Amino acid sequence: MSEASRPVPEVTPETERYWEAAADGRLLLRECRDCGLTYHYPRALCPDCFSDDVDWLEAAGTGEVYSYSVAHSMSGWPADDLPLVVAYVELDEGPRMVTNVDCDPDEVTVGTRVEVRFVDVDADDVAIPVFVPAAE
Ligand SMILES: [Zn+2]
Repeated sequence: MSEASRPVPEVTPETERYWEAAADGRLLLRECRDCGLTYHYPRALCPDCFSDDVDWLEAAGTGEVYSYSVAHSMSGWPADDLPLVVAYVELDEGPRMVTNVDCDPDEVTVGTRVEVRFVDVDADDVAIPVFVPAAE
């Protein structure tokens, strides 16, 4: 029971490169060549100006907790991974992403500096970017 994997995300042609990079230990964002917006979740069209002239950008993988909540139960989630810190992390590049901060809930608050880690799941070429409190 303790070996249960986290849920596997749905990989689409739009997000395949994002998940593959995560499996390789890299966090990718998208950057619009027309308006300059850097954004996450990876979409083929810029969410601001709807341009399809968008590029991939490798994020540093650092940021801070913008907001968070602590879940003590969650359907389909491995019981050994509870409680779960669900957070909006604001990356240093600007975008905010919904993610998990893998730590004791007492170790996190708004403004906590965090850095990315990648969690393997039961699927090839996919890993889940999560965050942990930054070492420094
Ligand atoms: Zn744009």
